[in-house]
Amino acid sequence: MQNIADNLATIQRQIHAAEAAANRPEGTVCLLAVSKTQPAETIREAFAAGQRQFGENYLQEALDKIQQLSDLEILWHFIGPLQSNKTRKVAENFSWVHSIDRLKLAQRLSEQRPAHLPPLQLCLQVNISQEASKAGCSPEEVPELVRAIHPLPQIKLRGLMAIPQAVADPDQQRQAFQALRELLQSLQHEYPDMDTLSMGMSSDMTAAITEGATIVRIGTAIFGARQAR
Ligand SMILES: *Cc1c(COP(=O)(O)O)cnc(C)c1O
Repeated sequence: MQNIADNLATIQRQIHAAEAAANRPEGTVCLLAVSKTQPAETIREAFAAGQRQFGENYLQEALDKIQQLSDLEILWHFIGPLQSNKTRKVAENFSWVHSIDRLKLAQRLSEQRPAHLPPLQLCLQVNISQEASKAGCSPEEVPELVRAIHPLPQIKLRGLMAIPQAVADPDQQRQAFQALRELLQSLQHEYPDMDTLSMGMSSDMTAAITEGATIVRIGTAIFGARQAR
């Protein structure tokens, strides 16, 4: 049995230690709890322990839970693969989308974001390790995508997201995160409002914070191993 409140407290301590070790002010890293495959009651338990931001990968599963938890003030992040015929529900139900890898998705979300809601916060997903099987645009495509997406109404392009190749060695983990940070820094001259690096999961969170992560996306370390879907 996982104790979610204890796990959240442990991770917050690890985040603060990594911030301090990197000479970063405390509180500059946001913990996103990745709740895919977890039931609504488990999310309720994490909420009771103080967690407010949750990340989901599968749209229908997420919509069911968003409805079941509509009494809670949760900020929902969509972090999974997105098909362009499913953008409307994402535009209507989420605060953030981390998995934008083509212009069409951003254009549709921009058109479909309801006017009464704040702008939808977006990150471009970059295939930073250049793996053939991985989602995300290539690093070379990023400047042109940013130029096209940044001016769209009803969205706000906040930064970059990546899921690097899984490696055990922390120095190797840092290389991919460093590459994503340098890519963001190269954009910040022209787009100083792009301030977000969504990078780092349960197994590489510390390396990501060392390299400048502002959002870490943590599932297993909070909720335990996931059941197969
Ligand atoms: C599942 C998932 C995570 C969390 O992974 P853990 O290893 O369980 O921490 C983070 N980001 C994305 C995009 C995911 O799909």
